Amino acid sequence: MQISYNLKSNSERRQTAFEPKDNVGFGELRTDHMFLMDFRDGQWINPRIVPYAPFEVAPGAIALHYGQSVFEGAKAFRHKDGEIYTFRLDKNAERLNRSADILCMQGVPEAMQRAGIEALIDIDRLWFPMQDDACLYIRPFIFATEDRLSVSPSEQYTFCVILSPSGPYYKAGFNQAIRLLISERFHRAVSGGTGASKASGNYAASLKAGKVAAEYGAAQVLYLDATNQQIEEVGAMNHFHILKDGTVIIPTFTDTILKSITSESILELGRLLGCEVRQETVMLEKFIQDIESGEIIEAGGFGTAAVVAPVGSYIFEDRRVLTVGDGSVGEHTKRIYKVLTDIQKGYIQGPKDWLVKVARKENSACAA
Ligand SMILES: *Cc1c(COP(=O)(O)O)cnc(C)c1O
Repeated sequence: MQISYNLKSNSERRQTAFEPKDNVGFGELRTDHMFLMDFRDGQWINPRIVPYAPFEVAPGAIALHYGQSVFEGAKAFRHKDGEIYTFRLDKNAERLNRSADILCMQGVPEAMQRAGIEALIDIDRLWFPMQDDACLYIRPFIFATEDRLSVSPSEQYTFCVILSPSGPYYKAGFNQAIRLLISERFHRAVSGGTGASKASGNYAASLKAGKVAAEYGAAQVLYLDATNQQIEEVGAMNHFHILKDGTVIIPTFTDTILKSITSESILELGRLLGCEVRQETVMLEKFIQDIESGEIIEAGGFGTAAVVAPVGSYIFEDRRVLTVGDGSVGEHTKRIYKVLTDIQKGYIQGPKDWLVKVARKENSACAA
């Protein structure tokens, strides 16, 4: 793939590295450039890196009307050697195409996705924040651009990647447990639907539920299956709980649960974490009983942005509250968070191929 570069002039683009004292927030900033590529006449054409700026989309574009739009979220980390490493980008690339397939969209060959993302990171590497626990958040997405009002799959798409230099997700350290609303009213997905894809529309559909959750003092909704019997997942995270013997349980992946790469990583790390990690169908009634009896001692969510989000309590629509353990962040949860983030940061060796160094190309305009 031959990428063309139309870069910002030197005076327009970032010229100095961040300082450790710069307080970069999570997800707020953008880098100087973005990667774009178009799907026309049956092929992906014109891969290019251009200044981050608004682009033109036809008012009749199918993505705007019928929601053919899918995205990914990945991270890259800067290691002690000063190089930037992407974390399991192969899994994100594969999942973007799985999501696209579920929405009858055109996928992007995985090698092309990775090449575009790596070239973009390389060009904008000066944007990597210098704070502890910083990352480059990577947001690839595909959306349907064909201008057509009849409902059928678009024949034209754009693949875009933007980057967000991000400071720590947990600004005050990893010590705050959240509350989740267990809702019987809202459902995220049904069997045969789009729940297993990272579709923009799934997020639009979760916003009202999120607003109601906030009214209950909860951070998000913990979704049940359509019959309100099984625990499925949180809007942007898988759910997990931990038994008193340390066993970590994640609900079995079905077509109503998005296959989280964080969950998959924890499953693969089982032995390194020193505990069993397994998947099973989680029945709500049993889950409640086991929390009340003390059989379940910790719980939380797994997702790229937070990595681990500890849950201290659940609230029901009748305002009943269910506290997990003593409601604080438990030791097992802390250990899981530390092991996975230490691997990402290169402090400890994780499985082979999880981290891939971003190559420095000759035309990389950055000195850092
Ligand atoms: C993105 C997402 C997750 C988390 O997946 P990761 O690969 O761990 O980031 C979980 N559930 C849903 C619905 C998601 O969209």
